[in-house]
Amino acid sequence: MLNDIKKQRLSKKDYDENFDEIHPPLSEHEAYVEGDRCYYCYDAPCIEACPTGINIPLFIRQITSKNPEGAAKTIFDENILGGMSARVCPTETLCEEACVRNTGEDRPVKIGLLQRYATDSLMNSSNHPYKRSEDNGKKVAIVGGGPAGLSCAHRLSMRGYSVTIFDSKSKLGGLNEYGIAAYKSLDNFAERETKFVLSLGGIDYKLNTTIGKDLTLDQLKKDFDAVFLGMGLTGVNSLLVDGEDNNGIDDAVRYIEDIRQAKDLGELPVGRKVIVVPDRDAPGEKLINQAIEFGWNVAFPEWNDSITDVADAVSKYGRLFTIQSILKTTESSRFKIDLKRKMYG
Ligand code: SF4
Repeated sequence: MLNDIKKQRLSKKDYDENFDEIHPPLSEHEAYVEGDRCYYCYDAPCIEACPTGINIPLFIRQITSKNPEGAAKTIFDENILGGMSARVCPTETLCEEACVRNTGEDRPVKIGLLQRYATDSLMNSSNHPYKRSEDNGKKVAIVGGGPAGLSCAHRLSMRGYSVTIFDSKSKLGGLNEYGIAAYKSLDNFAERETKFVLSLGGIDYKLNTTIGKDLTLDQLKKDFDAVFLGMGLTGVNSLLVDGEDNNGIDDAVRYIEDIRQAKDLGELPVGRKVIVVPDRDAPGEKLINQAIEFGWNVAFPEWNDSITDVADAVSKYGRLFTIQSILKTTESSRFKIDLKRKMYG
């Protein structure tokens, strides 16, 4: 099976189409029409459902009043990474699920796309919407340049702290740069958003620096007034079976990183027959989608039929199998897998 892992499985056109944006942005007119569907609820359930508590009816009102940059400021006041959140947040189970428009029309206001419209409008203009306060003489070290570290750095710098971010990777951005599925974040958006955050000023960074290896926490505590630890959760669950480090076996998070950092997707070698062993969480779901986009035949455990995107993929590709029992035993260099070949669609 391993010698079936090859590059250039698809044509360039297919790669481009398969990895194109999953939800294209709204035009100005579309944003205005969609925003007009909002009732501007007084006790807006969408705000309650938003983990960052963004004043959603207010920013939608600002959009329909032709003030998208004001709308973006409303979003950034709660979440400086609101541009990426607009792209990756599972709005269908958060604000949009709570939207009262579901009751009458079975169709919520497209809050995520409106948020993207607003944040893109401001980020595409040259002005950073915040100013750094006068330097207060205090220094803070931030370990981890992902969403938590960048957000913390931005808010501290606004209050006059001098911040240094330490990250073990060669780029800042963390999950946004390395762990978000490619079709959700196109055109180097993670990198552009990081630049947007840093453009406030007062934020320095050191890359390829691992705490505990290149620097100690004690040293940071000595050199800085405070240390913020925002390393994130980059580890993945182990399958706990023999042979899981063998060639041809990859974890989803690392594979998504390869896809996100690839200059040419055709250069990524993939197999024609692939087993996906997903958790019920997002990485497995993302991997299934990306695997299919690469032209793989995908198998996954039966209990994962509930993954919503799988249904879409099945109707589009009709090329999914379930695995009745997986990883029954390991033999030399590969897993022995008992497949129940069941075609969907
Ligand atoms: S729940 Fe829906 S209609 Fe009400 S404010 Fe929020 S987005 Fe607007």
